[in-house]
Amino acid sequence: MSDSRYFAKIPFNYGGRELDRGEVFALRSLPNDRLLIDLNYVGKIDASMHTFKNCDNCSRIFVGESFLIGHKKKKGGCLAEQIITKAETASLIGADPSKVVVE
Ligand SMILES: [Zn+2]
Repeated sequence: MSDSRYFAKIPFNYGGRELDRGEVFALRSLPNDRLLIDLNYVGKIDASMHTFKNCDNCSRIFVGESFLIGHKKKKGGCLAEQIITKAETASLIGADPSKVVVE
């Protein structure tokens, strides 16, 4: 498992992608990564976190049901152009891509 996996504590744009609250993503060594951690914009994914929820529309992953619900209910809703691949989803939660189930 990579140790670069985090979740967004607030919505913000990371490298051109709009992250929603609770969304799991990987830091990509961008210039402001350290600042995001220091300012508490992001939280680290650790072994105790295992209730990941997939959006059935865009495959994004969230650290809990409430964040998935927030993602679906936000203004504008879940945007189709933000779809991520199953392989990316799998790598984010450290799973075998063939075993990723969209809930
Ligand atoms: Zn979605």
